[in-house]
Amino acid sequence: MIEKKEIKVSKIRNGTVLDHLNEGSAYRVLEMLGVDNDYGNPVIVLMGAESNSIERKDVIKIEDKFLEPDETGMLALISPNATISIIKNYNVVSKRKIGLPKKFIGVGQCPNPKCVSNQNEPISTVFNVETKDPLILSCGFCENVVDSSDISAH
Ligand SMILES: [Zn+2]
Repeated sequence: MIEKKEIKVSKIRNGTVLDHLNEGSAYRVLEMLGVDNDYGNPVIVLMGAESNSIERKDVIKIEDKFLEPDETGMLALISPNATISIIKNYNVVSKRKIGLPKKFIGVGQCPNPKCVSNQNEPISTVFNVETKDPLILSCGFCENVVDSSDISAH
């Protein structure tokens, strides 16, 4: 008999669960969310959890915090397969898949210092998705082609 090893993680009563994060992306997601020592909410991070027989994933659970879409706008850049579940009283009350938009608006920063989006003008950044895997984008203003990690870095 083959025993399937399951990683047991305590369920949270209330809060947000970020699941199906690309393996190894948890650090960047925590950075995006601004999680640090003073965050104030308990955060459970699971790296390299078994997703299926081939793939592994990272999982982040944040207790007593209900993430709004504008707090997770950058998540598609880091981990487009991610799902966000809102948990209330141990039940999933809403679940959404991040997915990859055709373009990112107002997310990240163009790495080109001469780009018009970097001149303190009141305009939002626009990045068009060139390829999905790897995620390559181009700036809507200067047409600079950038890797997704280049624009999500602050
Ligand atoms: Zn640009």
